[in-house]
Formats: sequence, structure tokens, C-alpha cells
Amino acid sequence: MDDTIVAISTSLGVGAISIVRVSGTDAIEIVNSIFKGKDLTKVKSHTINYGHIIYKGEVIDEVLVSVMRAPKTYTKEDIVEINCHGGISTTNKVLEALIESGARQAEPGEFTKRAFLNGRIDLTESEAVMDLIESKSDIERRLALQNESGALKEMITKYRDKLKDLISHIEVNIDYPEYYDIEVVDDKKINDSLDYLIKELKHLIKESEGKKIIKTGIKTVIVGRPNVGKSSILNKLLNYNKAIVTDIEGTTRDIVEGDIYIDGIHLNMIDTAGIRKTDNKIEKIGVEKSLSLIDDADLVLVVLDESKLLTKEDKEILDKTKNKTSIVVLNKSDLTKKINENDLKGRNVVETNTVDEKGLESLKNEIRTLFNLDKIEVLDYTYLSSARSLALARKALSSLESAKESAITNSPIDLLEIDIKDAFDDLGEITGETASDEIIDNLFKNFCVGK
Ligand code: GDP
Repeated sequence: MDDTIVAISTSLGVGAISIVRVSGTDAIEIVNSIFKGKDLTKVKSHTINYGHIIYKGEVIDEVLVSVMRAPKTYTKEDIVEINCHGGISTTNKVLEALIESGARQAEPGEFTKRAFLNGRIDLTESEAVMDLIESKSDIERRLALQNESGALKEMITKYRDKLKDLISHIEVNIDYPEYYDIEVVDDKKINDSLDYLIKELKHLIKESEGKKIIKTGIKTVIVGRPNVGKSSILNKLLNYNKAIVTDIEGTTRDIVEGDIYIDGIHLNMIDTAGIRKTDNKIEKIGVEKSLSLIDDADLVLVVLDESKLLTKEDKEILDKTKNKTSIVVLNKSDLTKKINENDLKGRNVVETNTVDEKGLESLKNEIRTLFNLDKIEVLDYTYLSSARSLALARKALSSLESAKESAITNSPIDLLEIDIKDAFDDLGEITGETASDEIIDNLFKNFCVGK
């Protein structure tokens, strides 16, 4: 962490402004060496300074430079941010000049990693930063913001403090067994604390699992024979013509995707190749892909043409999806109905037609019901947003349940202590206090460059 890092923090493309960020001991000196304007080494902290970036005698850009001195910065190091004109060429040239003047290109997430290693934020807050950047809906943003402000860290720290307290009580007992009666094996204290923590963790895990779809969305796959109206339904849901719609069978050979939102929950919709028996090589690959997508989906929309009797292929698709969370969409309800609904017993059925857009709202309502979307409460709630933290919380819970079992069966106190220490460490890994360097490195690798 001795070196000074640099990265383009805005997304690289055409835009009014781009920000190039520099962090480290030499940040101010390095920028100053290519800056014409005030002497940046002498300006006050948290000031914005007008000037030019000059490199090898050439004016690269007219810029505004923010100088922020440690420790009140994102990384707790000196940070300089150069607001230059947007555009790939100018921004890259500024980056290049900084690298040639002594800064090192930052790795993905390295600024946030420094904020973590310098003790400004913990891992839950770091993950929340990433969630915030990636949030696509208002609910996602609100949840991420809550964790970013340290709500989850506080909660986990409170649990760990309780466990620490228990561990020291148990250790007094192990070290000074003569105090057995007075101090420690106050079974009630151990039992009460374990009961409380088990209850709290169970609640946190349950709520977090319920909220998982806020972040991951609902992976929705649209399947059906060719020409039943899959692409038309996707287009209507997306409100624009992204999928190719034609009446030539087998047109949607590849996969077409789009995102829709229902009550702020994001549905990643995948329109698949029509499923039918085919000798066409390319179409065959598409059909196989569609079938494998069904296995992966959270929700399958099985589209049928209700103006026709069920075909053998329809029946196969229905059979393949019978154990999945699915909705059977009877499309083309504007035409004379021929399908026999008795063949669809036990399935969730919605009728639609894309010609005068009937039934699309009912389809959305069915999705709402299936995933309890209207019951997702996000007010003032802290949750475990990453698969990593959820897995660790489950591990900690299982250790605490095992400790409780030991307490009930009066097992040796050291056994109880091992489980409590395991839970203490697992919870510590959520915040990063007990996480290994490897885990930390891996976590930040998933961040974007410049953050
Ligand atoms: P896909 O192959 O399943 O994706 O089907 P498309 O969306 O490409 O639609 C196939 C044909 O059916 C096109 O000519 C559409 O205009 C037509 N179609 C789609 N939905 C409806 C509907 O609700 N009613 C009627 N009458 N025709 C529809």
C-alpha cells in the first residue's frame, strides 16, 4: 500500500466529464508535476483548483482538480481527483501521463480495498458500495445505502460482543474452576445468550433470503413452440421491440434478453428459441439451449397458442416445466379458443393477447403473487446482501445451535467454547475482522476499476 494508485473512476466513453482518481502518499506531488495552475502541494485540503494538465510540453486538457488530504478521504490516504473533459482519448491521455509520472494503474476495487485496509469501512460496507453502484432499482439502492451506512456492521458487532462476553466467562471457568459456582457456569446466562443469538441470526437469515431477489432479480425464461407469440409477449412487457418478431417459424434462434421491473424487483427475461423438433443444425443448438435454460430459471413462462389444440411438443414442454415455478400463458386469446384447459389442471394459467394487449397486467399480477412481491418490506431493514455473508451467518448459526445442544446435555465446557469461538470467527469474517488475505483479495477483485 506504499505506492500511489490511479484509475479512471467514471465509465469510459463519450460524456461531458470524466474523473481520474489518484490515491496514495505521492498523489498530490504526482498530479502537481503535470499540473499548471496553483501549486497543489500548498493548497488547502478539500479544495477544487482550476488549471491545465501539461505533459511533455503539450497541453492535454483544461481541468478542475480536487485535492483531499488524508485522513478525511475515501481511502484515508491523500486523494486527488481530476475532472477532465469526457471522452476516451482525453481521459486515457491523462491516465497515461499520471502513470508515466509515477502512479500505478489501480486494480479493480483497489480504492475501496484501501479504505477497508486503512480501517475506514468494513467488508459489509465495502460490499454495500458495490451493491449501490450496481443497483438498478430504487429498492436495491435503498437497501444498499442502509448497509453502506454501517447498519449491518453494527448488528454483527453487537452479536460478536455478546459472544466475546460469553467466551471470557467460559474462560474464567476453565482457568479458575474454583469460581465455578460464582462466576461462570451460570447456565442461565449461557442459555439466555445462546437463545437470543440463535433467534436473532435465524431472523436475519430468513429475512435476508426473502430479500435476495431484490438483488439477484428473478431469472425468467419464456419457452414455447415457435410462433406462439413469445417474442411478442416479451416486446409488450419491455415496451419496445427488442426481440425480433416474425411469423416465420424458428426466427428466434438465439436468445433475446431484456429487463422489466415489477414493484421494483427486476426480472431478467430471456426469450428462448422456440422448442420444436428440428433438423436445422443452428436451430437445434438454440432448442437445446432453451431446454437447459429452464433448469436454471427462477420462473418459466410457458407460452401456448390457445387457438390451437395442444401439440405433442406443447405437452413435452408442459411436462418439462411441471416442477418449476411457472406460469402457463395462453396467448392469442383474440382468436377462437381451441385449447382444452382440462389439460392444464394444477398449473397457474393466464390468458393474454398481444394484439390488443389483454392479460399482460394479469400476467404481472400472477408473478407478484408467486413471489410475494407486495410483501417485501424494505423499510429500516438491514440484510445480508452477499452469498458470502449469508453462508457465513448460516455457519455461525449452526455452531451456536451445536453450542446450545452442548449446554443442554451438560457437555464439557470446552466443547461449548469451541462452537462459540467458531461462531465468533464466522461472524468476524462477515465484517472482515477475521477474513484471510485471500478472501479479501477475491472479494475486491469483483469490483470495478476506479472504485
Ligand atoms: P414466437 O416465435 O413464439 O416468438 O412468436 P412471435 O412473437 O414471433 O409471434 C408469431 C406470430 O404470432 C406473429 O405473426 C405475431 O404477430 C403473432 N402473434 C403474437 N401474439 C399474438 C396474439 O396475441 N394474437 C394474434 N392473433 N397473433 C399474435
